[in-house]
Amino acid sequence: MRIVEIRVTPIAVPDVPLANTKGVHQSVFLRSVIELHTDCGRVGLGETYGATRTLNGLKAVAPTLDGLDPWHLNDLRRRVEMALPDAGGVNAPTALADHRVVDVVYSAFEIACLDLQGQQAGRPLHDLLGGAVRDTVSFGGYLFFKFAKRDLTFGPDILGEVMTPDALVAQARWLVDDHGFQSLKLKGGVLDPDQEIETMLKLREAFPQHPLRIDPMGAWTVPTALRVIDKLAGVLEYLEDPVRGMDAMAELSARTDMPLATNLVVVEFEQVIEAVRKDAVQIVLSDPHYWRGATGSIRLGEICRAAGLGVSMHSNSHLGISLAAMIHVAAATPGLSYDCDTHYPWSSREIVKGGRPVFVDGRLQVPKTPGLGVELDREALADLNSLYNRAMVADRDDTDEMKKYVPDYVRKVPRW
Ligand SMILES: [Mg+2]
Repeated sequence: MRIVEIRVTPIAVPDVPLANTKGVHQSVFLRSVIELHTDCGRVGLGETYGATRTLNGLKAVAPTLDGLDPWHLNDLRRRVEMALPDAGGVNAPTALADHRVVDVVYSAFEIACLDLQGQQAGRPLHDLLGGAVRDTVSFGGYLFFKFAKRDLTFGPDILGEVMTPDALVAQARWLVDDHGFQSLKLKGGVLDPDQEIETMLKLREAFPQHPLRIDPMGAWTVPTALRVIDKLAGVLEYLEDPVRGMDAMAELSARTDMPLATNLVVVEFEQVIEAVRKDAVQIVLSDPHYWRGATGSIRLGEICRAAGLGVSMHSNSHLGISLAAMIHVAAATPGLSYDCDTHYPWSSREIVKGGRPVFVDGRLQVPKTPGLGVELDREALADLNSLYNRAMVADRDDTDEMKKYVPDYVRKVPRW
């Protein structure tokens, strides 16, 4: 089996103004869809970020994959590194964390290669990762403060404005009722910490059995984080990236028993070593989009187990190919002991055949069909590619978008 044609299609997907430390989501989010066509008629699929640096990296590598044997992942890595010497990171310099272009591009093509391997072997992708240790993967409800969407050109709003603790609890009720989520995570760092403490306490009251998390993405100083922890002792399952940077996380970790999680200070293997040495975090978020694909994510799980760290799973806004990859990786990661994050309920579109999967009690079934187990809906892909061309959004800029809602907004991390 050899790769004979490589397609990279940028798409834009309608989004809603979900708020975070950096600002607010734009009216569309961007993704890239990868197709690896083989000489035996199989098509391997991948999905990743869609902003300029990732897209340019994918396009630079694509022609060099002609003739690649999808079973040879070391050859894939070599070709990616040769096509992208000194390519740097995928994010803007102002981002809170960056990922190497080579890792992101490799990850996207690796998933597509594993899809092909699974199809040829007649086995689901998770069997190539050591086999599934669970039949279903559990996701948490992802809660956001948000504005009422103003520009409806590319798609409708969901739920209108949510900027108070009570409105947030109502949003949680909607997510739990619709999808059965058994745990909840708030994207914090948006309102004053006292209002976010109040929000978490109200969530605890409304959902007494649900594990709760908050992720302010580095918005707090160490003293603020300690004050929040004091108020939320016994309420939180873990606290994600409360302060900015490895050293601040280590300083906080030394002063609290609250488990600290991260997808900002540990995003490369070298940083696992530094985090362990400094005892900066207790839980690392996995993600097959930047932890060197599915195989890298499994290795991360092994390293975390050896280091005594917990593993959870990170999400960006995504569609069904990414969702399938996340499920296979989560299924084959024995140490994954927390519900995975997903933005999935915040969009309503899909690019895989069969429509959107339905969460039952917050869970999705682990596929048993060969490869990723998803097939491309070409009409839907063409539709979202056309939206990409119309939307004229090439990069993500939450801070710029925020100024449409709060004209004098100034990004500041930490803010409190
Ligand atoms: Mg996070």
